[in-house]
Amino acid sequence: VSGFLDVRDLSVWYRVGSSEIRAVRDESFSMEKGEVLGIIGESGSGKSTLAKAILRAIRPPGRIGPQSKIFFKGKDLLAMKESEFRREVLWKLISYVPQASQNSLNNTMRVIDHFYDTAYSHGLSREEATERALNLLRTVRLDPERVAKAYPFQLSGGMKQRVLIALSLLLNPELVIMDEAVSSLDVATQKYLLEIIKDINKDMGTSIIFITHDIPVAAFISTKMIVMYAGEIVEEGRTEEIIKKPLHPYSNALMSSVPSIKGDLDRVRPIREGLPSTEGCLFSTRCDRVMESCKTQHPGISAFNGRRVRCFLYGTNKAG
Ligand code: ATP
Ligand code: MG
Repeated sequence: VSGFLDVRDLSVWYRVGSSEIRAVRDESFSMEKGEVLGIIGESGSGKSTLAKAILRAIRPPGRIGPQSKIFFKGKDLLAMKESEFRREVLWKLISYVPQASQNSLNNTMRVIDHFYDTAYSHGLSREEATERALNLLRTVRLDPERVAKAYPFQLSGGMKQRVLIALSLLLNPELVIMDEAVSSLDVATQKYLLEIIKDINKDMGTSIIFITHDIPVAAFISTKMIVMYAGEIVEEGRTEEIIKKPLHPYSNALMSSVPSIKGDLDRVRPIREGLPSTEGCLFSTRCDRVMESCKTQHPGISAFNGRRVRCFLYGTNKAG
């Protein structure tokens, strides 16, 4: 429990036809102020769903389980009235750079008008909004005067992404959730953008949740890391420790599949393919260290050497 962001027993389901997908399975974690928390895991592991739950952006066919609690600075976000959440939290305390966000700018509006929209709905004057917008465009290393007047279709992907990051900072939020913020960009642009994001964290003190399936990117940007598999947190700890010595077999498989992390091409191994197990440990169908008990018993997450790991190989893990 941190007193900044505390997610408790969060579950999210999606109804698809007559069945339900458990996209986030009763997960808890905390984040400290000032941190950059990386959330990694392969496609479909529930990263975006987790982010949307914090932003109260889960829409039907999705629903949040009734036990779920999300505390931000002591306030339960899920218990707030929608109008209060929009007025007091969204943009002001917590903002968002959505996945595939380059399409979220309106091509018929100039860049500056996007800033005005958000600013006016929160009571900023035009002068204040203009000044802040130009400063923020400068912060993300864009030419403020030119870009403010431009239409989104006139900008490159990397520039649009920088506009969206600037926009997310307009009301000086304490936490920004960035979902695959650099994933669609070329490597040089990625690197440049990651430096900017790091500076924002350092200079403005903005806490960041950085969601990505790209492990080197997460390794570069984050101070703490959560590894997700099939809707569960399987490992959580300091980034450099997880990178150096992943404990969970899934984390280990992820790290082993990345040449720049392994440093030695001969030791790079692809992850064994397969669907999550329907009983026991969800990863047991793909795990290279699977034991008999893993096929029938579901491991809880437990503390181990300053981390949390969901695996019978570690700690005082009990079935649960
Ligand atoms: P990616 O890396 O591809 O962005 P992700 O980790 O963000 O993946 P989510 O988008 O959170 O994963 O999806 C988690 C699970 O929930 C997946 O099984 C997905 O198919 C399902 N899901 C997500 N959104 C919906 C929706 N609107 N309707 C039905 N199922 C959904
Ligand atoms: Mg996603």
